[in-house]
Amino acid sequence: MNIVLMGPPGAGKGTQAERIAARCGIPHVSTGDMLREAVRSGTELGRRVKEILDKGDLVTDEVMKEVVKGRLAEDDARAGFVLDGYPRTRRQVSHLEEILKDLGKTLTSVILVNASEQEVVERISNRRVCPNCGAVYNLISLKPEVDELCDSCSASLVQRSDDEAETVRMRYRLYMDKTAPVIEEFRREGKLFIVDGSESVDIVAGKIFEHLEKT
Ligand code: AMP
Repeated sequence: MNIVLMGPPGAGKGTQAERIAARCGIPHVSTGDMLREAVRSGTELGRRVKEILDKGDLVTDEVMKEVVKGRLAEDDARAGFVLDGYPRTRRQVSHLEEILKDLGKTLTSVILVNASEQEVVERISNRRVCPNCGAVYNLISLKPEVDELCDSCSASLVQRSDDEAETVRMRYRLYMDKTAPVIEEFRREGKLFIVDGSESVDIVAGKIFEHLEKT
């Protein structure tokens, strides 16, 4: 299964991608996670993109192409992948087509996890992440067992630096300007499965699994 998950920042794409990955036995390929990891470990890529991520801006299409191409060519993605956070621009859609063609793959499904701006801002302001293992929580809908501590490794949870209100607004604007037209194109071509991300994690996951079973 070669799956693309789309949606505004904070719609719950990452959580759903994890569920799909676990159920289908395929890797969750999050471009945001890959870039944040590059920044944390101070690689050349990390040094190049740090400032862009902090501002909530988009990394260039050319850099993203290299990142995604390398990742999808890895062994664990042979049986499939859940791509989360890519493509985000028209050019990235063409790049993804090229990458898949070179690897002899085609997309099984494009899924939109939808949410309004108000929901997105509310969710993101309550989002906390574990700086140690990367687990994601929500102080309202997906609370850790002990306040502000990670369930798996007990590290103190933090807010992502690009989850601050001003940056979130910038990311949402970019989503509407650059990514929403791409999504509309998938919809027009009849390639898009849309699910309402404002429902509970389990309900959204259930709808996605039902859809995947049919495809
Ligand atoms: P995310 O976790 O998907 O919200 O991504 C976090 C940040 O990584 C974004 O705000 C961008 O700065 C960068 N990023 C992730 N994916 C892409 C992409 N496909 N194109 C450009 N920038 C990206």
